Amino acid sequence: MKIAIIGGGLAGLTAAAYLSENRELEGTVFERSPQLGGRAFTYQKSGFTLNYGAHAIYGIDRHTLHHMEEDLGLVFESKQVDKRKVVYAKKDHLTPAPLDFVNIMKTDVLTAMEKVRFVGEIAAIIGNVHHLKNYATLGDYLDQSHAAGDVKELWQHLVCSNFFITPSDARKVSGEVIAVYYHNLFLSSKPVNYILGSWATITDQLQDKIDHNEKWNIALKEPVETIVMENGKFILKTKNHEALVFDKVVIATPVQQAVKLLENTEWAVHLDPYKDNTSTEVMVYDLGFKEVVARPFHYISDMTNKMFISDVSATDYTVVPEGGQLLQGIAYLKDDFQDEEERKAYMDKKTENMEGLFDKYYPGWREAVEVKRVSKKAMVSSVKNISTNRLLPNRLPEVPFYFCGDGCVGKGELAERAFSSGRKVALKLLNQLIKPEQVTS
Ligand SMILES: Cc1cc2nc3c(=O)[nH]c(=O)nc-3n(C[C@H](O)[C@H](O)[C@H](O)COP(=O)(O)OP(=O)(O)OC[C@H]3O[C@@H](n4cnc5c(N)ncnc54)[C@H](O)[C@@H]3O)c2cc1C
Repeated sequence: MKIAIIGGGLAGLTAAAYLSENRELEGTVFERSPQLGGRAFTYQKSGFTLNYGAHAIYGIDRHTLHHMEEDLGLVFESKQVDKRKVVYAKKDHLTPAPLDFVNIMKTDVLTAMEKVRFVGEIAAIIGNVHHLKNYATLGDYLDQSHAAGDVKELWQHLVCSNFFITPSDARKVSGEVIAVYYHNLFLSSKPVNYILGSWATITDQLQDKIDHNEKWNIALKEPVETIVMENGKFILKTKNHEALVFDKVVIATPVQQAVKLLENTEWAVHLDPYKDNTSTEVMVYDLGFKEVVARPFHYISDMTNKMFISDVSATDYTVVPEGGQLLQGIAYLKDDFQDEEERKAYMDKKTENMEGLFDKYYPGWREAVEVKRVSKKAMVSSVKNISTNRLLPNRLPEVPFYFCGDGCVGKGELAERAFSSGRKVALKLLNQLIKPEQVTS
């Protein structure tokens, strides 16, 4: 059986790595860029290792990567962000982020009574009995909650930072999605970890697995342009080939690109419910210094301006030359602008706020910059996980393809959903290969 995987990001590489373990299958990963990794693409610049998207792993002990370690024999090390060095800034006042019991006791984001209430909320989430899961959205839950304003603000802020979205979007996230997410995270003994060596540590091993099977190819700079079905086979037209024939096709691209690829086909209509999904976009501001400029904390979240700075190298020392420092600033962005002028003014203000945050806590950074990368619009999640959007199922009735990626149904958020949906699709296909007569979808 010959399988085409369209997209060489985390999801496509995961699916291909699992499938290439089976000696009866052959296949090709098509990637339109000159390199693999997609939004987890890693590159070197002046001795610094930069990621297009950050490589923080939330709840690594309960994460899909844990299964991939066992299933595929992946080898990687990770290091936990020091919880005592994670702070919130509220109107210029710094306080420990209430990430665990010790920090909750120390923080002054909450009063003593509010701390009792918040600990009760965490216990209910862990015990899976929190009412939040029964509400359509966080906003609906908060509107009827008798909690103090600070507790409500904290809930909103937690969701902002874990889902990379603005407060108004945080209120639109489904109560059930939040309850499941924090159930996992609060039960984790390792809430935020960095994979040492960045995403390349994972993507290089996935690529090696695929390369190891001579029946599999990776085709770079080879976008798939059209797919047609003839006599039960799929004919792919790519940039360099008129007609390549496959038995199965996995589409591992952002949902928007899957919709585009299938437009003008008989299947387009089935993707209609997913075509107006909105994505999550952020501004990213990476700064590399040869020497440490300042290290007052390892992560600061500015509750007022809705942005944060991670001192990535304080946790992952492999991403800098010896003695160096790598900071990453991220600002959540709203996306409803009247016109281009309003959008530009908003972005200029965000840049000014971000640079102001660096000025405040890393004075002298401007003179020390060795490497700088600013991306004003990076897509963190192809489908913002709010109640008005719909994640794309891995299979759709009437559509003969498999779908995976961070905008598809899967466990977790962000990269975890890319890994988990890639793994799920591959296991479905493998199951079908082993027991073809039992599989209907
Ligand atoms: C700034 C930023 C910070 C982030 N921080 C974190 C974090 O800390 N933790 C975390 O877990 N996640 C984080 N993420 C999210 C994470 O990077 C993504 O969830 C993940 O990389 C998505 O992988 P994917 O395979 O689903 O999609 P993609 O990476 O988009 O891969 C899809 C691939 O398909 C290719 N493609 C598209 N169309 C075609 C075609 N027609 N033919 C061939 N190829 C095609 C694309 O070129 C791309 O390589 C962050 C992302 C960003 C941008």
